[in-house]
Amino acid sequence: MRAAQIFQGGNADVLTVSEIPTPEASPGQLLVKTVWAGINYIDIYQRSGKYPMDYPATLGLEGSGEVVAVGSKESNFKIGDRVCWAWAPGSYAEFTVVNEDKAFKVPNEVAMDVAAAAMLQGLTAHYLVNSVHKAQAGDFALVHAAAGGVGLILCQMLKAKGVRVIGTVSSAKKQELAMAAGAEFVIRYDQEDFAKKVAEITQDKRCQVVYDSVGATTFEGSLNCLAIRGTLALFGSSSGAVPPFDLQRLNALGSLVVTRPSLANFIQTAEELNWRCGEMFSEIISSRLEIDISNRYELADAKQAHLDIESRATSGKLLLKISG
Ligand code: NDP
Repeated sequence: MRAAQIFQGGNADVLTVSEIPTPEASPGQLLVKTVWAGINYIDIYQRSGKYPMDYPATLGLEGSGEVVAVGSKESNFKIGDRVCWAWAPGSYAEFTVVNEDKAFKVPNEVAMDVAAAAMLQGLTAHYLVNSVHKAQAGDFALVHAAAGGVGLILCQMLKAKGVRVIGTVSSAKKQELAMAAGAEFVIRYDQEDFAKKVAEITQDKRCQVVYDSVGATTFEGSLNCLAIRGTLALFGSSSGAVPPFDLQRLNALGSLVVTRPSLANFIQTAEELNWRCGEMFSEIISSRLEIDISNRYELADAKQAHLDIESRATSGKLLLKISG
């Protein structure tokens, strides 16, 4: 089968499409003919060598497709099922082995591209809003990279709960997208001091929660945007890692909470995955949640997709078309 692989960490040039043996499903696993694979920023950390991998490695963690083999004699899945998944390493490939507890049957009303696009970024937004910090109606929340894949979904989920969303973005086009997704205010953090602007917008009340996936360039400002006992969810580092930090500062800044969550810990069981997927897909089916697929690439163009997302030019979701 064809798969987009790396043999070492590095820039996008290390990503090449190779012919490799088709894997097999062991008990508890499904073998899926991949239709769509999602591009996520974590793929960049893995490709670049920031997150170590065993080489050669097939990239990708998410997708949708059709079950072609079931590893267990007894299973909730059968050959022919349309499934989508999050956290299945090796998803940039014609066939993907998916652990059953990371797979979800695609609802009939949902197209396969939307299903693939929703999984990793949508479930991340779901756990951030429902499990990391439960913002209340009327609270202010700051969402960095608000027009990105996770960002656009976070804005919608927070708005639906009555939370007042302040977004940050790096272009006028992204500003429009974030507003359309429910942000009440959108700050150009490439041009303005966002912490100062947040103080102005909130009349010095600041935010109950900050969702920061940018890291190095935003972390200090994010701390300054928080109200007393506010929560900073540092869930990514697209601009680089946050340097070591003195916990005593959280006291001085107002008994703040800082957490560094990962989706893998919030979809630990099939029950948890099914709960999050059930809620998310019902919002998608009723059109209350929109998944914005901004670009689609062939598997052979995975390198270009990586260059695009790293360049900060993209918004919403990028997908690889694998088959079908
Ligand atoms: P995005 O579509 O949000 O792309 C990344 C965005 O980050 C860019 O569009 C850009 O938005 C912003 N950015 C700011 N500074 C930089 C920089 N120096 N280089 C590149 N981008 C920059 O990606 P995803 O939606 O896939 O992921 C968003 C973040 O969430 C990532 O950090 C990812 O690792 C994290 N994540 C974490 C998870 C977890 O469970 N912990 C799970 C899923 C994602 P702008 O141009 O507006 O600045």
